[in-house]
Amino acid sequence: MERIVIVGGGAGGLELATRLGDRLGRRGRAEVTLVDRSRTHLWKPLLHEVAAGSMDIHAHQLDYLAQARWHHFRFALGALEGLDRAAREVIVEPVRDDANDVILPGRRLPYDWLVLAIGSESNDFGTPGVASHAFTIDNAWQAHLFHRRLVNACFKANARADGRVLHLAIVGAGATGVELAAELHGTLRMLAAYGLESFSPSRQIRITIVEAGPRILAGLPEYLGVETTRTLEALGVRIVLGDRVVEVTADSIRTASGASIPADFTVWAAGIRGAAVLRDLDGLESNRLDQLVVRETLQSTRDDRVFAMGDCAAAPWGPGRPVPPRAQAAHQQASHLARTLASPARRAAPGAFRYRDLGSLVSLGRYQSVGTLMGFVTGGTWRIEGWLARAFYVALYRMHLYALHGFAGMALDTLARLIHRRTAPQVKLH
Ligand SMILES: Cc1cc2nc3c(=O)[nH]c(=O)nc-3n(C[C@H](O)[C@H](O)[C@H](O)COP(=O)(O)OP(=O)(O)OC[C@H]3O[C@@H](n4cnc5c(N)ncnc54)[C@H](O)[C@@H]3O)c2cc1C
Repeated sequence: MERIVIVGGGAGGLELATRLGDRLGRRGRAEVTLVDRSRTHLWKPLLHEVAAGSMDIHAHQLDYLAQARWHHFRFALGALEGLDRAAREVIVEPVRDDANDVILPGRRLPYDWLVLAIGSESNDFGTPGVASHAFTIDNAWQAHLFHRRLVNACFKANARADGRVLHLAIVGAGATGVELAAELHGTLRMLAAYGLESFSPSRQIRITIVEAGPRILAGLPEYLGVETTRTLEALGVRIVLGDRVVEVTADSIRTASGASIPADFTVWAAGIRGAAVLRDLDGLESNRLDQLVVRETLQSTRDDRVFAMGDCAAAPWGPGRPVPPRAQAAHQQASHLARTLASPARRAAPGAFRYRDLGSLVSLGRYQSVGTLMGFVTGGTWRIEGWLARAFYVALYRMHLYALHGFAGMALDTLARLIHRRTAPQVKLH
């Protein structure tokens, strides 16, 4: 039996492992193994909602071991440490517990076909103070930690009852930064409504977004930037454009223009890069952002047996333009690779992946949703907003659930959440 190893069970990798497990693992036609450094999966585009407290991670996490059992693949816990291409083995780091005791020793997992799908992490561009003073929202734990510290700060402010202002600074006005600002605006008001009678978010919370570029949502159509700016400014969010952050301290951020912006909490959301482990992964080609360079087939430029997908891959999309780091790209690449790896003939001669940009959506919590949809028949772009944009935004997550659980599973999951929302607070209070 051929061995297919997928490293990284995120938006793309878990969908791929599930599909290949169902198609190949179930019938014993190949052995499919998923490796992840975490024990549970949470769809990454939900992270800003976890950070803001409008979503409870425990209600949305999926256990890799359970998914593996239900869908006929194996799960191996551990972080990618290296690769031995000559021996065709993935090298996995030892797994340690909180006390630093080794639970699982380092291992080597043999493969015939390897897919790397380990996502991305925040890029701090070497800015001093980011590592020690800023939060990043790269995974569920970081999002959870940020939320807990913020709730604690609100409780403290309520107990002090001195009216002091709490400053939140978000560095980077991409989708993550602007969506987080809007979610925080809403959830902090809800939190205060649950009994923080001496704390007034409208007077005591100041949210500032700082962006080095000339406009917000730089990678998305201009219309989205204009609409989003209007909504955020109406909410009282301050937007500073064209000023690069050069240092983060414990209570402020400094910018290239010499400004100092107060910041009790700084969230760094100013760009992404690949993980350091990809920088020289046994000779595979990587770019200056430490993403693996792949061909149209999603095969590494230097090894036909190694594929890469999602945020950790630089896949071509037109001249000089890579496929953007988006969940919809990871989803499409997972579907493509599931077809490629499903049969020995296609594995030997993989077809080219063509990214279809279906549009862009920005959800500003309960205040506004805006987006553009690509009209494939007319060739134009459709602007959508309000409940329709929100419905498409939610549909992206539903598509992910559909890929993981099938239609019945997705429908039951949606129903369960609707019922849960009736009996739980709208914001996480701890
Ligand atoms: C807050 C936020 C909001 C977003 N909103 C949107 C949106 O609205 N629409 C959209 O299209 N995109 C959005 N994105 C981007 C989207 O989340 C990513 O493009 C997408 O998740 C990439 O999928 P992936 O499979 O490549 O990686 P990920 O989903 O990040 O998964 C990577 C997996 O690899 C694992 N891993 C990492 N390192 C290792 C290692 N060394 N060894 C083993 N396992 C490892 C991780 O635990 C994780 O399970 C958002 C991102 C963020 C942070």
